[in-house]
Amino acid sequence: MNQNNDCNFCKIANSCPDDLVIYECSDLVAFLDILPIRESHTQIVTKQHYDYFENLPIAISHKIIELGQRIAKAQKELYPVERAGFLFTGGDIAHVHAHVLPLFEKNDITSFRYSHNKQQFFGGAEKASPEQLRNVTAALRAQLEKTG
Ligand SMILES: [Zn+2]
Repeated sequence: MNQNNDCNFCKIANSCPDDLVIYECSDLVAFLDILPIRESHTQIVTKQHYDYFENLPIAISHKIIELGQRIAKAQKELYPVERAGFLFTGGDIAHVHAHVLPLFEKNDITSFRYSHNKQQFFGGAEKASPEQLRNVTAALRAQLEKTG
């Protein structure tokens, strides 16, 4: 098994106490985030060390999304919400993990929340200008065309 001894998520994914495990299989473990955005905010973590989602084997990606869908449906049964959110991040620990949470507010995990917290995006502007959006769109398209 591919593990990184310096990675906290490698340790957590393979030693999570049973009573804190929401789901576990040979590839994944799911448990609650200790700093939840919303109650039942769940993290789905790979047991093997992969740094970022774009480097995951597609079969593992599929398992994470499938599990995320199941957890989202469970959250919708448990809470009075119409939808759940799902996202991959890698900002805190470079070990793939997906977040699933019930969305009580439509902006629970969108950029709206951050822009209204006065964080600095797009050079301090309130929102991206059309020119900035076009430039970033063109750059992403060009990069995608390079990789087929
Ligand atoms: Zn790791």
